[in-house]
Amino acid sequence: MDRSANAAGVLEHSDTGAQENRVVTEEEWLQKWEMRNIGFHKEQGHPLLQKYLDVLLGGRSGLRIFFPLCGKAVDMKRLADMGHHVVGVEVSEQALKEFFAEHSLPYSEEPVPEIPGAKKLQSTSGNISLYCCSIYDLSSSVVGKFDGFWDRGALVAVNPCDRQRYASLMITLMEQNSSYLLVTVSYDPTKHKGPPFYVPESEINSLFGFLPEKGDWLDKMIGEMEASVQGCLNSARIIAMEELLLMTSPLLQLLTRDEVRHASDSMRKSGTAGYVLGMLPTRWIFLAGTVTFLPALR
Ligand code: SAH
Repeated sequence: MDRSANAAGVLEHSDTGAQENRVVTEEEWLQKWEMRNIGFHKEQGHPLLQKYLDVLLGGRSGLRIFFPLCGKAVDMKRLADMGHHVVGVEVSEQALKEFFAEHSLPYSEEPVPEIPGAKKLQSTSGNISLYCCSIYDLSSSVVGKFDGFWDRGALVAVNPCDRQRYASLMITLMEQNSSYLLVTVSYDPTKHKGPPFYVPESEINSLFGFLPEKGDWLDKMIGEMEASVQGCLNSARIIAMEELLLMTSPLLQLLTRDEVRHASDSMRKSGTAGYVLGMLPTRWIFLAGTVTFLPALR
């Protein structure tokens, strides 16, 4: 088994092929709920959300927060009680009904005109909306965009062959300056067939770094940014600047051209690399294996 530690000191396993072709069907998930085979459910909420709540909220109030593949996560109630608007999606109607029943929350049910067969279960108070359908049926035109994401038991529950589709969808649901908390698990993927699946840090990076237009323009922009600071920085600072670009290149991939151009202009004007650090989103902390914070995006 080939293993190495990532930056966060978590063991990275390279043998991910073991799980590559595994598929868990929606029917199998429904059966898990029927058979009460739901060991993933945390009665007391998730300790990592508690720990990193401030990072998710970033001091903001009245956020729209998305729970993909939500199950009956009790944290949805907790965030709604704090004044946020919670939206979840889940294939099991039983899970969603149990959620409302277990919290004694009255709710109403309505069809979702854009998605045949889907239902929206909404708390009477209006601040919890749970869609009963497949995550792949959703789009921002149906659910809007979100300021915060709690991805626990979601990316790691998605079939490996659907990961790219899932991540691309999540990116389209991100509001500007959204924060995305992702919980992953680290274990030897030859020892357990999943779910939860093992998703290595390198894959998370490429999944969420994906933008259809990523490519030449990025290299060109980085070149332009470097060229724009050449004139105003001394050589020591240019070295620092290169390190900064290396550090933030996954982040740059998630910025739009305009934002990169704006960063480049600002640098030219202020003549410091520090300014760029200040203006780029700061929630870029990578702790694969436990919780991964994706940066504020686009
Ligand atoms: N996030 C929840 C549940 C994790 S288990 C928690 O932390 O407790 C994964 C959940 O995803 C299951 O409840 C399963 O029914 C649901 N699910 C699986 N595939 C799905 C899909 N394609 N669309 C929506 N929900 C799905």
